[in-house]
Amino acid sequence: MYLYNSLSHKKELFQPNSPDVVKMYTCGPTVYHYAHIGNLRTYIMEDVLEKSLRYLGYNVMRVMNITDVGHLASDADTGEDKMLKGAKRENKSVMEIAQYYTDAFFADCEKLNIKKPDIIQPATGCIPEFIRIVEGLLEKGYAYFAGGNVYFDTSKLDKYYVFNDHDEENLAIGVREGVEEDTNKRNKNDFVLWFTKSKFEDQALKWDSPWGVGYPGWHIECSGISMKYLGEDLDIHCGGIDNAFPHHTNEIAQSESFLGHKWCNYWFHVHHLNTDDGKMSKSKGEFLTVSLLQEKGYDPMAYRFFCLQSHYRRNLVFSWENLDNAVVAYEKLISKIAILKDGGNVDAEVFSALRERFIGALNGDLNTSLAITAVYDVLKAKTSDATKLAALKDFDTVLSLNLIQAAEALQIKQEEESAVSSDPEIDVLVQARSDAKKAKNYAEADRIRDELKAKGIEIIDTPQGAKWRRV
Ligand code: AMP
Ligand code: ZN
Repeated sequence: MYLYNSLSHKKELFQPNSPDVVKMYTCGPTVYHYAHIGNLRTYIMEDVLEKSLRYLGYNVMRVMNITDVGHLASDADTGEDKMLKGAKRENKSVMEIAQYYTDAFFADCEKLNIKKPDIIQPATGCIPEFIRIVEGLLEKGYAYFAGGNVYFDTSKLDKYYVFNDHDEENLAIGVREGVEEDTNKRNKNDFVLWFTKSKFEDQALKWDSPWGVGYPGWHIECSGISMKYLGEDLDIHCGGIDNAFPHHTNEIAQSESFLGHKWCNYWFHVHHLNTDDGKMSKSKGEFLTVSLLQEKGYDPMAYRFFCLQSHYRRNLVFSWENLDNAVVAYEKLISKIAILKDGGNVDAEVFSALRERFIGALNGDLNTSLAITAVYDVLKAKTSDATKLAALKDFDTVLSLNLIQAAEALQIKQEEESAVSSDPEIDVLVQARSDAKKAKNYAEADRIRDELKAKGIEIIDTPQGAKWRRV
């Protein structure tokens, strides 16, 4: 499989360190609010990546953190803790907020057929791991204590900006407009590993540490959790593109300085879902959730389909019109699958040729839109329905679009609708029953229903009125 590696800026042949298992780490949600559909775009594409690797025969061990402490309102080390902000907003404790939004996150994932990672670890459960790394960094001279906090010293690195040739001045923390400079820092990009002093002294969760009672910085949690479960080497690390700097840049800085060797080989970054007026963002407070899409009548699968139609390394613009187009395309696809007849023989040769095309799409830097084209190719193929259904079922282990289930549900609905009949004599009786019901004459309505039942007629009450069918 060829994947674009943000570290080398190239598509590279993916080769895990060990043939036995792919060690995959994913930055999890900050659980102070619902995930928006932009966040979920990232998790959908990471889910497709994990399922593709499994489909291609790899064992995958995937770990995800839950950020329930340490993520400040600004990516610089200033501002209030996001969790504390959420707790204040809702008048709950930080742990209540964390539990509620963690559950909400996985409920959204389930609606979108996003598989749960093998290990899910809240940051608050790994404090000793973080302390161990901070101690190691201090010992090796990569960190210093100043003004009550422990900082990572970026001047000790040969190369700090590993992902891009950032314009240092623009990105430098502390010189960004509106961000107050932290005078404890020796270098502008230094970042906090452990806080005991912050302007926001009412931090709810604090732990004892060699540097006093405090709490970890955000970046250290992903290094600590990854090392705890996946050891000193990581094959692939995923996240949204906004995480490349400073979060992932800092993860690499501290992990490699602590370990004394390269840490992670491949970095997979999903680009953003934007609206017409910019990036969708949780902190802005106004954003779209899966529940909101459902309230408006959208099937979460249509949103997954919408995401898969475009490449993960392109920004995706969300608009209702774009989503509506995806709904039409998804429903059309399902209706084409629904007319395929079950049973019969699978043509192994055709099946494997179709599969090759699908694998080719995945192998080409996870080209999901091409993988969807491979789905249409199945429908167009000159082969048996059984072969087509087998291929679609196989592809859907990666795409997870409910292709078969949704088609079966549509078949049942269509059968029910076609069973609804018309016959003037029966129509009159059905109408008489409806009239009796309206007049609250339920005894008469029941009598007519029983009379019809005796004739083998079943009444179906629908929002459009009573219909009937022979049973
Ligand atoms: P957070 O809960 O803010 O820590 O973000 C969870 C994940 O969503 C991270 O991997 C982010 O990089 C990613 N993310 C944030 N905003 C967007 C967006 N507008 N589109 C896609 N991914 C995003
Ligand atoms: Zn992370």
